Amino acid sequence: MKLNFDNQYALLGDNFVSLMPPRPLPNPRMVSINPLGAELIGLTPADISSETALNFFSGAEMIAGANPLAMVYAGHQFGGYSPRLGDGRGLLLGQVRNAKNILWDIHLKGAGPTPFCRGADGRAVLRSSIREYLASEALHHLGIPTSRALCLIHSDEPVRREKMETAAGLIRLSQTHIRFGTFEYFCHTEQHDELKRLADYVLEIHYPEFRGEENPYDQMLLEISGRTAEMIAHWQAFGFAHGVMNTDNMSILGQTFDYGPYGFMDIFDPGYICNHSDDQGRYAFNQQPNIGMWNCLALAHGLKPLIQPDTIDQMKSHYQTRFFACYDRLMSGKLGLENPQEGDRDLVDGLLTLLAEQAIDYTLFFRGLSENIPAPEANNSAFKDWYQAYDKRLELENITPEQRRINMLTRNPKYILRNYLAQTAIEQAEQGDFSEVDRLMTLLRYPFNDQPDFDHYADSPPEWGRHMEISCSS
Ligand code: AMP
Ligand code: MG
Repeated sequence: MKLNFDNQYALLGDNFVSLMPPRPLPNPRMVSINPLGAELIGLTPADISSETALNFFSGAEMIAGANPLAMVYAGHQFGGYSPRLGDGRGLLLGQVRNAKNILWDIHLKGAGPTPFCRGADGRAVLRSSIREYLASEALHHLGIPTSRALCLIHSDEPVRREKMETAAGLIRLSQTHIRFGTFEYFCHTEQHDELKRLADYVLEIHYPEFRGEENPYDQMLLEISGRTAEMIAHWQAFGFAHGVMNTDNMSILGQTFDYGPYGFMDIFDPGYICNHSDDQGRYAFNQQPNIGMWNCLALAHGLKPLIQPDTIDQMKSHYQTRFFACYDRLMSGKLGLENPQEGDRDLVDGLLTLLAEQAIDYTLFFRGLSENIPAPEANNSAFKDWYQAYDKRLELENITPEQRRINMLTRNPKYILRNYLAQTAIEQAEQGDFSEVDRLMTLLRYPFNDQPDFDHYADSPPEWGRHMEISCSS
């Protein structure tokens, strides 16, 4: 197994990172491999299946060129500022430059205690590792910007959460692990030289297009906020709730990051709260766009020493503009509308109100609409009015119904990672059988395709899986 390491972040030095080896996961087993993740860093599935890979990814033995480290960061958690968080249980094993010259972070989540673990055990349980493994790939194949997953390792180390569980390691791939909270940390500890070095690093590696601009940091902030807005527009369009939108879980690339008690909605419920610990509903589904903006403001404050005062106001309107442009495009697209018209947003909002009032499955409804098979629950007078308005609106389009059907089927997934599907895979894995994890990985690779052998994976949840409470312990 040969990896082309190029450990750029470590070069920032001691104020940014703590160099340290992982604590090896005892008796590790490689239980699932994602071939697409392997490809991103120039490896084959056979490489990942090797003993060297198992030793490396489980933390037992570093390979040449790796340079494991914990990153320091802060963050706003549920609205309150935590001045020092940092990687408490994850380590950046190294950065790898692939053949396309893209730098990928190889990050082991569940690597054991670090100087930032604040008394916790530094481990991740199997349950939450499977959830991130599956979700990051599922979102990617829906076209939602996200970190990726390489492989999953199971250990028999006991870990105490609400009950006793076992430890696992997830190898996460991301083009960066710099969070909004990384900037907040350096700003609010008044390390302004370091803040500038971090910003220069991000500009150089991730936003080189702004380097020559008069106000590069301002441009960078605007672009981060715009990408964040677009990421959240995608979440809204696919019925995804992140669950823990703390600023330490917000990637400066505007990619879905650090999966916890997330959830895809079954029945459409705008106030859906997926995180059982979120009593106030701060991160409820319909709050996500506002919270995204709130988080971008926290980032802007973290960049204050580097930016012009009026950039913050500019950022607010930029965020709104990028959010609605993306959201309207995605939602109109789900309805098969190609030529935007005034009133389209009302048509979408009217539909969402009906779905909520009549407790209709979000994904099944749009898939059915694409196939021109109206949902059986939607056979009532309120819905008839909506269908009438929709038919009238379709007359303004100039494509054939068949072409529209094809378009809609590429935008309205048949398969999503419903909580009950993930739960079934987890329960089997906890008994030592990882085949359902692999099956879901394969299925969710093509969420828009009919996969006749897997029709039942598109079903709404059985009774037991309807109102699952996902704890935020992980
Ligand atoms: P998360 O909720 O996973 O985003 O984590 C929030 C913060 O808590 C991060 O700084 C994590 O590194 C830290 N953390 C979470 N779980 C653990 C754990 N089991 N051991 C050490 N640190 C943890
Ligand atoms: Mg986190």
